[in-house]
Amino acid sequence: MKFNTKSVHSGREPCPATGAITTPIWQTSTFVFDDYGKPKEHDYTRTSNPTRKALEDALAELEGGNAGFAFSSGMAAITTIIHILKAGDHVIVCDDCYGGTYRLFSEIMTRFGLEFTFLRLDDEEKIQDAIKPNTMLIWTETPSNPLLNITDLEMISKIAREQDILTVTDNTFSSPYFLKPVDFGIDLVMHSTTKYLNGHCDVIGGAVITTTDELKEKVHFQLNGLGTGEAPFDAWLILRGIKTLPLRMEKHAANAIAVAEYLQDHPKVNEVFYPGLPSHKGHEIAKKQMNGFGGVVSFKLKGDIRSFLNGLELFSLAESLGGADSLVEHAATMSHASMGEEGRKNAGITDDLIRLSIGLEDAEDLIADIGKGLSGA
Ligand SMILES: *Cc1c(COP(=O)(O)O)cnc(C)c1O
Repeated sequence: MKFNTKSVHSGREPCPATGAITTPIWQTSTFVFDDYGKPKEHDYTRTSNPTRKALEDALAELEGGNAGFAFSSGMAAITTIIHILKAGDHVIVCDDCYGGTYRLFSEIMTRFGLEFTFLRLDDEEKIQDAIKPNTMLIWTETPSNPLLNITDLEMISKIAREQDILTVTDNTFSSPYFLKPVDFGIDLVMHSTTKYLNGHCDVIGGAVITTTDELKEKVHFQLNGLGTGEAPFDAWLILRGIKTLPLRMEKHAANAIAVAEYLQDHPKVNEVFYPGLPSHKGHEIAKKQMNGFGGVVSFKLKGDIRSFLNGLELFSLAESLGGADSLVEHAATMSHASMGEEGRKNAGITDDLIRLSIGLEDAEDLIADIGKGLSGA
């Protein structure tokens, strides 16, 4: 089946009891057993639930994994993956990861004896040098947030496989429509489904897709033990969003390249970050491993940040991304505030950096709005 078809059908059968074409919201905490010692397919919603299962099966099919798991947030998904490890293990993490990932790893998980090296994953030798005998995991995010750096996933998985190191890709920015990390040998794919997979800014959720039976069991054991699974209603919203994922991603990307090209030539803009631009330093790798470049565009503003932000009408000042509504944010004080000054400096996230989540409006209207903001900046 092709991707568009999978988006509509995978994980979803008409309800056998009623014929409902849309997966019902199985809003129940517990399920009645057939008999002593004989649960039905599901027994307790923390462990599993039919609505969540439909979403999980859809995620697995879309990413090309052997199983999917849905979580109450992207951070819950990340928390669950990291609990596969144990005290004393070492993790190599891209230095330009999501701010919340950086905070969880550097400020919380270090208290439980895990060790992290934050590193730009753009050079094989540098990565080899960072690997220690206790390195168990390499954490990648591509395109990264907010600079849209591209990591060569084939290079990462080759290094990792040779040394029995697990690999994870946070695939939130591309969604499986534009990038399938599993095709490049990545072991675990993770999403904040809050963003493109849901696509409507009306739910928080996360996902993990596994590639082996061993990982499937480990992730489910942690999900159940930690209690990080997604609620049925939230899972239902994400399933609904997935039906239109290809259409939305095409429009996000078409609008984003138009905006990026406009910004590139604007005198009030110092530098534009969008992997679809030939001037972007990850463009060649992006072209090789992605089917499209996504809907996030960042740029360095030559002018007053507040005046620019206040001059916008269509772009709302808000964190998050991936919804129908266009959003604008200031990385240093918003999405990446949790990274701290030191972390931001290392990752190259400067105070003049603006991130746009390009929505589904008309590109001409979006460009006119940005033009208005820039003229006042
Ligand atoms: C938003 C986001 C997360 C965290 O997800 P939540 O759903 O907010 O918990 C992780 N990674 C990336 C790339 C994100 O954009």
